Amino acid sequence: MSSEKANSPMRIEFAPAAPIPDYLTGEIQSKLAYVDERILRAQVSADRITLEVLAWDEGRAPAELEEKVQRVVLSMAKGAFKPKVQVLEDYIDRPVSYRQDPMAELLGRGEVSQEANGVYTLGPLLARLIDFFESQFIALAESFDAAPYRFPTLIPARYLERVNYVRGCPQSWTLASHLREDLDVIDEFSQHAVCDHQGLTTPPDSFASIQALLSPAVCYHLYFALADKPLPGGQLAATAVGNCFRYEAINLTSLDRMWNFTMREVIFVGPKDFVLENREIARQRMAKFFEQIEMAYRVESANDPFFIGEFRKQAAFQSAFQLKFEIRARLPFKDSTLAVGSYNYHQDFFGRSLNISLPDGSPAHTGCVAFGLERIAFAFLAQFGLDPAGWPAHVRERLP
Ligand code: ATP
Ligand code: ZN
Ligand code: MG
Repeated sequence: MSSEKANSPMRIEFAPAAPIPDYLTGEIQSKLAYVDERILRAQVSADRITLEVLAWDEGRAPAELEEKVQRVVLSMAKGAFKPKVQVLEDYIDRPVSYRQDPMAELLGRGEVSQEANGVYTLGPLLARLIDFFESQFIALAESFDAAPYRFPTLIPARYLERVNYVRGCPQSWTLASHLREDLDVIDEFSQHAVCDHQGLTTPPDSFASIQALLSPAVCYHLYFALADKPLPGGQLAATAVGNCFRYEAINLTSLDRMWNFTMREVIFVGPKDFVLENREIARQRMAKFFEQIEMAYRVESANDPFFIGEFRKQAAFQSAFQLKFEIRARLPFKDSTLAVGSYNYHQDFFGRSLNISLPDGSPAHTGCVAFGLERIAFAFLAQFGLDPAGWPAHVRERLP
């Protein structure tokens, strides 16, 4: 390992403990966000890991940090096998009219302002564009007669425990607490808590134990509402929009990855065929829509962002059973793609874990179609620019 000493950020570089296959470089790079608070940036290639880190005091050697990074590499890359990526739709080469990163101009025009890392306020252009996309997703939901729901932003920790989420993805949780119900604690807090650019410094033991999180997704709420009873009518299509929270650390750099974002879901609960057929019909209806709006994208198999311990096993499982397909829109400015939505099938996992039963007594299957509202608007602007005059007519004419 080589390192340069400096007070400000420094670079360290080393070879990974196991060769990193191409298909895992992005996945491992995104996990390095959670390895050490001193990591400011991470770059991963097959044979090189480059980190930009905060300089540290003499007592804590770079070796300690390298060891943690290597733990991630070994856990994810050793014995990994290439998932077979199945492409269901490929319109990635559809011509688009824009090549810039829209972010600079959005910030410059005041269309986006940043409140904190990954937390953004959106102005009228994005708000209208999102309303347009929302109206189309609601139309998709109505085509299934999906029942509308409204879910809270908080979700009880004990619910997530029931579906094993605690083990799967704790790295991106946002925990919600409150001050303890105690006059002395509240007095202490109001006198001594201080907030600076680092955040809030509070007297010790100010907070109650954590009972709730900010929801990471929408559909869990529906499954919990249906738990421990027979599914009325034996099948259900539902829809809801909600605020979702995923703390993605140093990866929260732009509108493409937010701490606080909004998701619209169409959710299916019932027998296996009902869920799989509707997921497929939803995909076909959306393909027509993406053609109308002239978006360049691909739909391909994918996996969820499990944390390192669970990653290999779960990702292989998801890929083998075709549980997740992503709508990946092209981002011309960085020659890459961004998931703007996903078509998910959970088999009878929630039905079994939460005891949602079908009329024949078997556990219900579930699936959802989920769209990231800010992401789809961002990808659209990345492909067509900020001037509505240059947008595909289908969008321009329907903008609220
Ligand atoms: P990624 O791999 O890009 O992190 P994901 O697999 O975590 O995406 P899903 O869990 O399928 O995403 O969530 C459904 C949709 O919600 C995504 O397709 C995306 O549009 C949106 N989404 C997910 N995470 C974020 C985020 N941090 N910021 C903004 N939108 C997001
Ligand atoms: Zn869902
Ligand atoms: Mg993610």
